[in-house]
Amino acid sequence: MLTPSSLAFFENLDLSEVTKQIIAEYIWIGGSGCDLRSKARTLSCSMTSPKDLPKWNYDGSSTGQAQGDDSEVILYPQAIFRDPFRGGHNILVICDTYSPKGEPLPSNNRARAARIFETEEVAMEEPWFGLEQEYTLLQKDINWPLGWPVGGYPAPQGPYYCGVGANKAWGRDIVNAHYKACLYAGVKVSGINGEVMPGQWEFQVGPCVGLDAGDHLICARYILERMTEIANVVLSFEPKPIPTGEWNGAGCHTNYSTKSMRSAGGYEVIREAIEKLGLRHKEHIALYGEGNEKRLTGKHETASMDKFSWGVADRGASIRVGRETEADGKGYFEDRRPSANMDPYLVTSMIAETTLLWKPVGLKEKASA
Ligand code: ADP
Ligand code: MN
Ligand code: MN
Ligand code: MN
Repeated sequence: MLTPSSLAFFENLDLSEVTKQIIAEYIWIGGSGCDLRSKARTLSCSMTSPKDLPKWNYDGSSTGQAQGDDSEVILYPQAIFRDPFRGGHNILVICDTYSPKGEPLPSNNRARAARIFETEEVAMEEPWFGLEQEYTLLQKDINWPLGWPVGGYPAPQGPYYCGVGANKAWGRDIVNAHYKACLYAGVKVSGINGEVMPGQWEFQVGPCVGLDAGDHLICARYILERMTEIANVVLSFEPKPIPTGEWNGAGCHTNYSTKSMRSAGGYEVIREAIEKLGLRHKEHIALYGEGNEKRLTGKHETASMDKFSWGVADRGASIRVGRETEADGKGYFEDRRPSANMDPYLVTSMIAETTLLWKPVGLKEKASA
């Protein structure tokens, strides 16, 4: 039992016994486009819609998002989750970032994504996304993967993917704590698994409709940062954490479907969407994550960065269509190109834009040629 002689006792005090006040942790993406920042404030009562929550501000010059002489950045609350760390009625608030004039910051891909997902042609199609977030756990101070001998390497890849046992899985307590905390928070996490490289894991978020995919993934990443902070382990979303040798990189495969793809005749719609993605390969790759070129080598279950390819059940292709989707004649496909450090708002909205809004001339003729 916790007693007042431990800090944990006070951290776990149930505020609702004595006050209607709650603590709201405001979370946002910082200047690198991948770093998460957060700070907390007291609110006078619990609120269930982000529209009821107050806007807030922070010092953008400290996050690489503003100049010191005009440093204010405004946070707009966009999505609410339960706070698994504080419990009770306390909340996590996913925010996006604006200048005082109300213009989205350059790093605010959520605002641009919202415009695309609000378009009638896109909204009508109810785009679903399933994001497979891979990540690497590192030993603190030495920045070397968990389970790897200090100054050396583990046995070659093979036994680690979905592996069990003290010589194959490292950090499972973190993974499990994160999994349950996400479910508690209301994040739509759909599963977890150990990855090919030892010390690497994956969680999946989805299927989520449109903008929700980004909000849920950012919340899941935030919870994971906090879990690893507790465990004194460093979290990395590097696309290629170990650049030399036969070690897998870390991606964020993006599974995608529209209403038409999920309905009878969907396979044709999928084929056409893949055709469009192929035509815009360069544009997509450019925005699929910093340092992704180190990962997309054509080895280790990736396709080469320079060449677009697709295939059924092909894990060496840019786009993979599942066997089940082929057999059913409808379903979804997987864009395997995005790296672990990608911006989910950017990637999901780009896929929707290219496949639903972009109308290249002569595509039909080209596809059937
Ligand atoms: P993989 O076989 O590539 O490892 P996972 O099982 O890890 O795939 O992840 C698949 C993801 O796709 C899950 O998050 C799942 O919820 C999501 N998903 C399932 N069906 C659809 C669909 N129709 N459209 C979009 N995403 C989907
Ligand atoms: Mn997976
Ligand atoms: Mn994976
Ligand atoms: Mn996958």
